[in-house]
Amino acid sequence: MSRRAPFSLPTAAAVLLLAAGALRAEDVTATLSRPDRPAASLRAEERDGRTFLSVNDAVAALDGSMTFDEKTRSYEVKLKGRSAVFGVDAALAVVDTKLVSLGAPVRGQGALAWAEPEFFQKVVGPMAGLPLIWDRATRTLSVRRSEIAEIMVETSVAELGETTKVVFRFSQKPSYAVETTADQVILHVPGARLVAPSPEKLLDSPRVARLLIRGGDITIVFREKGLVPNVYAVGAPPRLVVDVAKGAAPPPPGARPPVLTPGTPSSKVKTVVLDPGHGGVEEGAKGPGGLLEKDATLAFVKTVQEVLARRGYRVVTTRSSDATVGLEDRAAQANAAKADVFLSIHCNASRSATAHGTEVYYLSLDASDRAAALLAESENAAPASTPNTAEKNAAVRDLDLILWDLAQNQHLSASARLAEIVQADFNRLLGITTRGVKQAPFRVLIGVNAPAVLVEVAFITNPEEETKIGSGEFRRQAAETLAGSLDTYFRTADSVAPVPYAPKTPGKS
Ligand SMILES: [Zn+2]
Repeated sequence: MSRRAPFSLPTAAAVLLLAAGALRAEDVTATLSRPDRPAASLRAEERDGRTFLSVNDAVAALDGSMTFDEKTRSYEVKLKGRSAVFGVDAALAVVDTKLVSLGAPVRGQGALAWAEPEFFQKVVGPMAGLPLIWDRATRTLSVRRSEIAEIMVETSVAELGETTKVVFRFSQKPSYAVETTADQVILHVPGARLVAPSPEKLLDSPRVARLLIRGGDITIVFREKGLVPNVYAVGAPPRLVVDVAKGAAPPPPGARPPVLTPGTPSSKVKTVVLDPGHGGVEEGAKGPGGLLEKDATLAFVKTVQEVLARRGYRVVTTRSSDATVGLEDRAAQANAAKADVFLSIHCNASRSATAHGTEVYYLSLDASDRAAALLAESENAAPASTPNTAEKNAAVRDLDLILWDLAQNQHLSASARLAEIVQADFNRLLGITTRGVKQAPFRVLIGVNAPAVLVEVAFITNPEEETKIGSGEFRRQAAETLAGSLDTYFRTADSVAPVPYAPKTPGKS
């Protein structure tokens, strides 16, 4: 059993330092003061008129960790998802990948590191997202209040298949760092005080148990270990989206692993959701001969359904009769059916009686031109869902913006590709060269969690086209064309590499 040293450790250290000829050091305390937490006390030393503060204490007060490597005589600090490495004698630190030069080297004492205030202002403060100022008289490191931005955060959570999507919507664009552990992910928003309607939220999500918003940190607590978050930012309004899923995070768009060999059919039966526009009390556009868009779209969809079923597709329709169906309900049906593709079928309308041809759209919150904007406006006039109050409309509009990320946003490049294929095939069918794919904010596409396009098959306001769309022969031709477009789309959908030319094989019909 070892005996206790007859004198205290600090005294021993002081004796050793004196013996080594070091300058006289005076043990004092300093303070780390910040607006969102109680002040922390830091060990400090006055030596030769200079103040050294304990790096260990400051890091601990900021919820970071610090290690010392004896071999290299270097320290590593981990703080708010960032790291800094610095040595005992070198007057520099490496913060993440950036070199920061210091006025004086950090003083090492085994696992303890002592540094002058400048180190905290240049290294520790920026890592924590706290702009620190040093007051010599009171020996206080404090956070400059004016530098702290107050940012409002709104939270929404959605379950999409095997992924939980948590969306944080900010009142201004945040800079952020991500720190992931086995059971949570923390989004650090440096230099911000986050203000949320409820700072803590308990969820009944299968993957996320709790959301915590405190100071400049957002913590997402997983329900179980081993979940993987995928964090990405989207703009207008500024949002951070966190996808939480089991195992590997969902791959970024456009980087999907090749599943299909071009030219060979997929082993998996593809589900196509067909959405006949309008219905019930929503008649849509009306032709000069009296044909209603809601009837024309239903008749066309029935033909497409037959053709696709013969080609081996699984087909789901959002309505099979003259029924009123809300726009959100259509998207919801597509998601429930686990659609591989969503096609909303409409007939175009124009003041010009000679306007003709097929127009294919995919989603954008901004219309590609004025005509596209007007078209989206008129197609969006259909009831979102019932009952419909002004308050609900506002809520739905907000939800749209969130769903935009959640659902259609991740399929945009696939939607664009599908739209291009359909447009080109219809231009060929109709002998038209001038029509290009357009984008518009169609509500019916926003919530669809699959590549989705809206096809304005023909201009019902053009007498010739009204007659055409009313004829079984044209409907059949157009349905075969659309089916061919889907064949082309699926033959190449899952390939990463440019697809070599594969001659189009005739359908099995
Ligand atoms: Zn329509």
